[in-house]
Amino acid sequence: MVAKFLLITDLDNTLVGDRHALEQLNQALMKARQSQALLLVYSTGRSLASYKRLRAKEPLLVPDALVTSVGTEIYYGGSTTPDPDWSAKLDQGWQRDDVLSITAHFNDLVLQPEADQGPYKVSFYLSSTLATDLLPRLEVALHIRGLDVQVVYSGGKDLDILPLQGNKGHAMQFLGHQFQVSPEQTVACGDSGNDQSFFRAGQERGIIVGNARPELLTWYQESAADHHYLAKANCAGGILEGLRHFGFLA
Ligand SMILES: [Mg+2]
Repeated sequence: MVAKFLLITDLDNTLVGDRHALEQLNQALMKARQSQALLLVYSTGRSLASYKRLRAKEPLLVPDALVTSVGTEIYYGGSTTPDPDWSAKLDQGWQRDDVLSITAHFNDLVLQPEADQGPYKVSFYLSSTLATDLLPRLEVALHIRGLDVQVVYSGGKDLDILPLQGNKGHAMQFLGHQFQVSPEQTVACGDSGNDQSFFRAGQERGIIVGNARPELLTWYQESAADHHYLAKANCAGGILEGLRHFGFLA
């Protein structure tokens, strides 16, 4: 019997971005699925509605689970109700209104549209030129108010404030337990800052695609480990390369 593995991948500029490479990867994944060797999970900063718009444009295989809103919502099998156990975990100590009352003091933070907010995610736009100065001040302000949150800056534009448990890495580990797949048989793929939590989580294998953003590359260079692989190829081509590197695909 083939050992089962869990592939969890970011969408924008990781799985999606090179159509030809995506189609090649899909072929390889469909084969792995036929031998029941693969569990496929997408993990995105997008909301569920925004994921559905992407799915209408791109040839995406149906995943076994979908993680949206930067790790704060988990869906199974086409359901539109998030996993209540995961939501309950995030709810502990999360005070969304208090977060908003603090961020209101930062004029450079531009609130993202309502459709991109979530019960466990407060999101802003912030340019990278302003971020260097603003992020440490914001973290201090949140800390002084005693709010146990994490601040995630990604793609040189998106700033998310999330519950402590709510990130892509913790959602990956939650799903590993749900699906009973070990960290060594789990592989996560990403390109930007909000994917860093995948690679910091534990012993899960990590693939950083060749087109990764500077914020992720810098982190990788400072914390390189054998269970992380920086691909030469971009997007889905990098995922395929990494899956072969780790021996998950021939
Ligand atoms: Mg991405």
